[in-house]
Amino acid sequence: MLARSIIFLLLSLSACPLFAQQKYIMTVRGKVKADAIGRTLAHEHIVTNFIGAATVVDVPGDDSVVIAKILPQLLRLKGQGINTLIECTPNFIGRNPALLKKLSELSDLNIVTNTGLYSAVDKKYLPPYAFTENAAGIASRWEAEWTNGIGGTGIRPGFIKLGAGSSALDSIEAKMLAAAILLSRKSLLPIAIHSGSGQAAISAFEQLKKSNWKPEKLIWVHAQNGTDEERAMLANEGVWISLDGVSEKSWEQYAGMILFLKKRNMLHRLLISHDDGWAVLENGSYNKLDLFENGNSIPYSTLFTKLLPALKKAGVTESEIDMILRNNTGDCFSF
Ligand SMILES: [Zn+2]
Repeated sequence: MLARSIIFLLLSLSACPLFAQQKYIMTVRGKVKADAIGRTLAHEHIVTNFIGAATVVDVPGDDSVVIAKILPQLLRLKGQGINTLIECTPNFIGRNPALLKKLSELSDLNIVTNTGLYSAVDKKYLPPYAFTENAAGIASRWEAEWTNGIGGTGIRPGFIKLGAGSSALDSIEAKMLAAAILLSRKSLLPIAIHSGSGQAAISAFEQLKKSNWKPEKLIWVHAQNGTDEERAMLANEGVWISLDGVSEKSWEQYAGMILFLKKRNMLHRLLISHDDGWAVLENGSYNKLDLFENGNSIPYSTLFTKLLPALKKAGVTESEIDMILRNNTGDCFSF
């Protein structure tokens, strides 16, 4: 009888919000409470190197040039009310957690980095072990980053980043997703999958469902590559819809996609961002950097100058915008 009362008490406590388990986001400076991450851009880059896994080299030593160039942009972003930036640059495309940590300390902006491997673009960004090891072997490499930090830095990833092409997932892409599901089950980290089309995203969702893993652990990165109906369908299943290429040229289309989701009552599954960042022009050096040629002349800004004002004019409320930028990202990236 006593045992039954204790079990009942524990069950009632766990159902009470006061005793619900605290959720966190893993940033490059450590854990932050999920409800304290503030407004967040869900898909941006800082520095990337697109030369390919076969030749990419880390930047040794001095990063003062990159800091001088990029820190002012991060400080401006912070001034615009953004408190957290999800940095989506994968391993073998120039991921540099130590640089992100330095920029995070200097700007006081939370920055989140990732583990995983990017299989899009003809497998150009995959190391040899991606082809030879099985899903469990690959997952254990990512798990080591989650548990011990990335490459001796002690900096832990806050999500799993994958990349897929425009068709249903091929065998390598499916193996990466299987590895990501293994780690997501253990860590509760979300899986952000770059998808070239709705077909690729639906195929990832179906694999997740077959593996009995939660749809809310999947982020459809570049959901702008799909249709309104595909986005509404996957949002309805619980998948996060990341409309993350907002630019000076495309913001009106984004407003249309977002208003469609509002009509379907799906804004609570939406993430928005620019996919801005810089690319190095010389392998192994930060001395020459080019802003992405994605239609934004000032990085991380079109949301504030164009998209959000247009959405407000079209009837999206301030509290809906706050939900998208704060609650949704806090929810999506929490573990
Ligand atoms: Zn990106």
